[in-house]
Amino acid sequence: MLDVQKIREDFPILQRQINGNPLVYFDNAATSQTPQIVIDAIVDYYSNYNANIHRGVHTLSQEATDAYEKARKIVQQHFNAKNSYEIILTAGTTHSINIVATGFTTLLSKGDEIIVSALEHHSNIVPWQMLCERTGAMLKVIPMNEEGALLMDVYDQLLSNKTKLVFTNHVSNALGTVNPIEEIISKAHKAGAAVLIDGAQACPHIKPDVQALDVDFYVASAHKLCGPTGVGLLYGKEEWLNKLPPYQGGGEMIDQVSFEKTTYAGLPHKFEAGTPNICGGIAFGVALDYMNSIGFEKIANYEHELLEYGTKKLLEIKGLRIYGTAKHKTSVISFNIGSIHPYDVGSIVDKLGIAVRTGHHCAQPIMDFYKIPGTIRASFSFYNTKEEIDALVTALKKAILMLS
Ligand code: PMP
Repeated sequence: MLDVQKIREDFPILQRQINGNPLVYFDNAATSQTPQIVIDAIVDYYSNYNANIHRGVHTLSQEATDAYEKARKIVQQHFNAKNSYEIILTAGTTHSINIVATGFTTLLSKGDEIIVSALEHHSNIVPWQMLCERTGAMLKVIPMNEEGALLMDVYDQLLSNKTKLVFTNHVSNALGTVNPIEEIISKAHKAGAAVLIDGAQACPHIKPDVQALDVDFYVASAHKLCGPTGVGLLYGKEEWLNKLPPYQGGGEMIDQVSFEKTTYAGLPHKFEAGTPNICGGIAFGVALDYMNSIGFEKIANYEHELLEYGTKKLLEIKGLRIYGTAKHKTSVISFNIGSIHPYDVGSIVDKLGIAVRTGHHCAQPIMDFYKIPGTIRASFSFYNTKEEIDALVTALKKAILMLS
């Protein structure tokens, strides 16, 4: 059992009032809140050992380098990567996907096929479309059903010896569907294709084991995991990271530079050009340690309770429709009420202190599937409570009265 009241004390922002009401933060799928221990790590870095890493002999630079490389090890252990150099610290999920998509430019040619799912965030659609434009490869889509689950029999038909890459998210940000990634990965491998899994939405709830999954690339962002914005990871199998060319040229990613010829550094530095988000990387490690100290199993179980309670309570509201009713879901509820515009509902509940997200959630193809402009999305984290869900229901009822 989680001691939620004690956990809430770790998050100073949860004491905030919004428009004279206690903050109810239900926008966790967009970004999670930050515990004091992570805030302290950021303050400690800038107060005591702010310095550039990897190339300084002085004490501050050594301390910053040690802390940054310690964070990489924490990330490696969390995701169970075989080697720490298979963990590239990036600016986040979008950056990580673009490193892989750009790298594949030299590995694809006309006639090759790439498979994505219908449940993707724009950051897992657009880079592959750009890759197809550059290479002449073709994008194929695994469709979804009304419940928001992928049609796996169609996936079977799409796979062929032309398939070179498969990309899906582990969990959909718009609907919360947990995709059957084990099956997606093993079938892709049988067809000879590489797989990238976008774990941005899964990682706050599930601890992925990249070796057990046998996945080729796995990406995520720290800011969904109680860490800071602007930092994340690209896990890649060593053989794949060696095959891909560097994404950016610059300092840190080189071995030798001359005007005649430059050679590149080994992993992970080959993909880490320029001064990285040093403080962010260190704080990412602290955030993962914090979440592991609570325990991902406990987090997932409690969030599931919130999902069930929230689903039941919201469905008691007349005219409310939930989008995404697949059997395996994380604590995300995407909904609309009658024909009321989601933006109007979001604005009114904000006046009552409740933060939900409204719109297409960077997943326009999903909204097109349901023929809606967007949804209201309430996403729960382990520091939320059933009382907060009750407050949302009360606020929604007020919004309906005002808007109808
Ligand atoms: N993929 C998914 C499934 C996401 O939910 C998000 C963030 N909303 C991203 C990718 C992009 O992450 P970031 O903005 O941190 O790069």
